[in-house]
Amino acid sequence: ANKSVYNLVIVGYGGMGSYHGQLIEKVPSLQVTGVYDIVDYRMELAGQHGYHAYESMEAVLSDENVDIVLIATPNDVHKELSIQALRAGKHVICEKPVTINSTDLLDIVKVAEETGQTFTVHQNRRWDEDFLIIRDMFEKRAVGDVFHVESRVQGANGIPGDWRQLKAYGGGMLLDWGVHLLDQLLLLTDSKIESVHAQLSTILDTEVDDGFTTTIRFKDGLTAIVEVGTTNYVKLPRWYVKGTEGTAIIQDWDLSGEIVTRNTEVEKVEPKPIQAGRGLTKTMAPPSEESTIRKPIEPIQHPPEEFYINFLSVIEGSAQSAVPNEQVHRVLVLIETIFEAAEKDTVIHKEF
Ligand code: NAD
Repeated sequence: ANKSVYNLVIVGYGGMGSYHGQLIEKVPSLQVTGVYDIVDYRMELAGQHGYHAYESMEAVLSDENVDIVLIATPNDVHKELSIQALRAGKHVICEKPVTINSTDLLDIVKVAEETGQTFTVHQNRRWDEDFLIIRDMFEKRAVGDVFHVESRVQGANGIPGDWRQLKAYGGGMLLDWGVHLLDQLLLLTDSKIESVHAQLSTILDTEVDDGFTTTIRFKDGLTAIVEVGTTNYVKLPRWYVKGTEGTAIIQDWDLSGEIVTRNTEVEKVEPKPIQAGRGLTKTMAPPSEESTIRKPIEPIQHPPEEFYINFLSVIEGSAQSAVPNEQVHRVLVLIETIFEAAEKDTVIHKEF
């Protein structure tokens, strides 16, 4: 039966686990009732926050008042903990990357189907404003038909000095940030992927990738470059989009940027040669002001609680999941293909 308030326990009360706690405070029909973490200090913090600190995972799972288990541990234990929670009759929200390979996700989904519980991955960057603006641009043909998109996140701080540097925990930037950017990319087109090429970087001499660049070609002709870097003292734009009628750029999460399109009202003006370096060029001259229209990036807002509200509606059977497991699975297959392409240093031709 539907409840007016659902009880949720956070397993793994680190950076992200505590952030979930803050976000859930804004959802009246959901409350964090407890926390379980293997580190005493994290449990103390949870206690100070007024959450019940469970002494073991078994104690969480045998508590009949717990409706939902939210898993925010390092990546290597997501599968085991998710399956335990589903088998104990709990609904599960699991952090990204849900698993380290695609077959592990299928194993979890099978248990969710057997038990009838809801299992959803927290792909929260589906609600990032910059991404929603780009998706809207694709749909509304704001720059005509998009034939190329570039999506990047770049920092200069290296990989955080925790489990993210270790392979056994599912570390590395492809699994960490790559999973977000690739998830967003696959939502921009209905087309299948045709080919994938990639390079991983290990500039910092870690056992996992500290960044990567991948080029993906879709069947409908769209090409994409997705790049993550942790040694970039100067960043490239977050998004760069080329369409048949214009170009758009979003510089950063502050949404600075612009959309420049061809002005179809005026006759095309023949470009005048400009001096460029030691030479002259007409080809590389900027388009004339009268033949282009410049617009700022218009914000699109979504409350951050939307993910949890959708999850509760899925439990109650009144909505489809905003993060279908099949889509999450396809992203993991893409990540595997990127690892393979990088390792073999070849273009992988595969339709999926
Ligand atoms: P973290 O290291 O800050 O926290 C992880 C916590 O899990 C630690 O407190 C650790 O003690 C605890 N833990 C480890 N093994 C456990 C176990 N078996 N049972 C219970 N607790 C256990 O890491 P983080 O940055 O919070 O990342 C956690 C997860 O959240 C990762 O999967 C990460 O990819 C994801 N994450 C997602 C986002 C996002 O925006 N969606 C952002 C950051 C992290």
